[in-house]
Amino acid sequence: MSTFHSKTCIHFVARSTQADYISIENKDGCFSSLGRTGGKQVVSFSRQGCVYNGIVQHELNHALGFYHEQTRSDRDQYVKINWENISPDMAYNFQKQNTNNQNTPYDYGSIMHYERTAFSIQPGLETITPIPDRRVEIGQRQGLSNTDILRINKLYGC
Ligand SMILES: [Zn+2]
Repeated sequence: MSTFHSKTCIHFVARSTQADYISIENKDGCFSSLGRTGGKQVVSFSRQGCVYNGIVQHELNHALGFYHEQTRSDRDQYVKINWENISPDMAYNFQKQNTNNQNTPYDYGSIMHYERTAFSIQPGLETITPIPDRRVEIGQRQGLSNTDILRINKLYGC
């Protein structure tokens, strides 16, 4: 949260009487709704496995309105989705969305990008392969990239 404060115009404050707000809770898994849904919306960080800088920033970025980077509309120029390696019931996670993230370039280093074996049917099998250079790193969960920061500031007009 302090990174959002120092690098963007997003400031998280304790809720007083706001009608729409996020409630950070220790539920089963790490998850958030996309954007503002109205009323109380839960952002979950399970104490088992979610309370890390990069994961917190990832979920908060969903709450701010951002999809996963590899679902943006122009992603086929940058990654190959290996549908045959994806668990069928998880394939919806790879559907394209009608967004190009504020006209910013595709960002392999985004905190919102999946790792290459996400939702694989078998450990180690790639579901996402960067193209044309398959060795490009994806899936970092260290912190917001410079482009992540730029997008937040564009979306929120700051
Ligand atoms: Zn996510």
